Amino acid sequence: MTTMNIVSEHLQAYGLVWMMLLGVLGALIAWLLWQYRRQRSMREEMELASGMCTSSIEHDMVLRAMRLSTWRLEVDTGRIIYGPDYRDNAMHREGEVQDDYRNIFPSILSEDADRVIGGLEDLCKGKVDDIHQVYRLKAQNELGYTWNSYTAIVAERHTDGTPSVIVGTSQCIDQQKKMEWELVEARNEALENDRLKSAFLANISHEVRTPLNAIVGFSEVLMQVDDVSERERLMEIIRTNNNQLLSLFESMVNMSKAEAVGETRKVDKSPFVLADLIRGLSSDARLSNTNELVEIKCRCGNDTALTLVSDKMMLADILRHFLSNAIKFTREGEVVIGYRTLDDGNVRIFVSDTGIGISEQEQKRIFDRFYKVDTFVQGMGLGLSICRTYAYLLGGNIGVKSTLGAGSTFWIDMPK
Ligand code: ADP
Repeated sequence: MTTMNIVSEHLQAYGLVWMMLLGVLGALIAWLLWQYRRQRSMREEMELASGMCTSSIEHDMVLRAMRLSTWRLEVDTGRIIYGPDYRDNAMHREGEVQDDYRNIFPSILSEDADRVIGGLEDLCKGKVDDIHQVYRLKAQNELGYTWNSYTAIVAERHTDGTPSVIVGTSQCIDQQKKMEWELVEARNEALENDRLKSAFLANISHEVRTPLNAIVGFSEVLMQVDDVSERERLMEIIRTNNNQLLSLFESMVNMSKAEAVGETRKVDKSPFVLADLIRGLSSDARLSNTNELVEIKCRCGNDTALTLVSDKMMLADILRHFLSNAIKFTREGEVVIGYRTLDDGNVRIFVSDTGIGISEQEQKRIFDRFYKVDTFVQGMGLGLSICRTYAYLLGGNIGVKSTLGAGSTFWIDMPK
């Protein structure tokens, strides 16, 4: 064997070893690379999963906070699948399936049904891409329904573009509707108060000017008249107008006192016999009544010793106003003042008349400030409002029962 052969054999052996080493090294590197990629993709998957978990929790929180319930409608089958229901009155369990979405329609109030059904069907047919509707669902509450709204969009389509899946959210909006209603009420009340105040200003200038003109005018005439009986007639007219003006200012002062916080008239309670007060008021009314066609009567019943512990003056003011209204609005017949004990133990003190009466609609407003059924009738429309404030101060309850054209009964229920 030559030296050359020995050298080449050695070289071949080394080459093989190197080749093997390189092979092992390559395999090792490939394994390490594979491991690295695997680890990285696992890490990415975990990150993705935890991200999805967080966004699903967030999504859930948003639904819960907004009290929304989600649903998914498969257009071809009509199947509707519900997500969690966060409405106040949980209507569907999560994952609940309704075979045909049209089965829901009978629970919608008939007034809203056509609009809701039409809207949803337009969405299913692809006529619109999204929809938002407010509707009422039948319910076992005092209204007979709850307010709801839904928003839906086309989420998936067939290859021809027609909708295949619709997703939507539903919400109970009873609270929102209640707030809306309260705001509308408050706005209407503010508008009405504004209207009444304008009417009041117009009215007050008329109410003040009329007696004032009479006083000024007749006073001047009085100075030029010598005839005694004529002078007496003129003085009577002036006196009547003076009283009218005085009572007008009294009403206004009483009203502002009754309304001013902390300035309300003080209640001074002491015992008194009710029948005595009623008899006194009826005889005063008889004296001031100038209409012979109206008879003033007193009906005190059997319990003439009935004693109340209350503010006699304040109660008398209320009843005096009831009486003066009754006489003012009764052309003929009778005005009766009286009282009787009610089943609940309270005493009802009433003034009834056979006058023009008040419609049911007007009865609801009659105790409001400045409210008058007929603007041409004398008065500021403040008296009954003052009476109501006084009644509350006395711990009583005030009310009216009336039939248009037949007469009215105003009453105050007082604790014994
Ligand atoms: P005022 O202070 O001008 O007398 P009220 O507040 O007492 O006004 O009454 C308001 C309105 O209620 C009157 O303008 C009248 O239209 C109606 N009213 C009050 N009492 C009677 C009654 N006994 N019969 C018919 N209408 C009445």
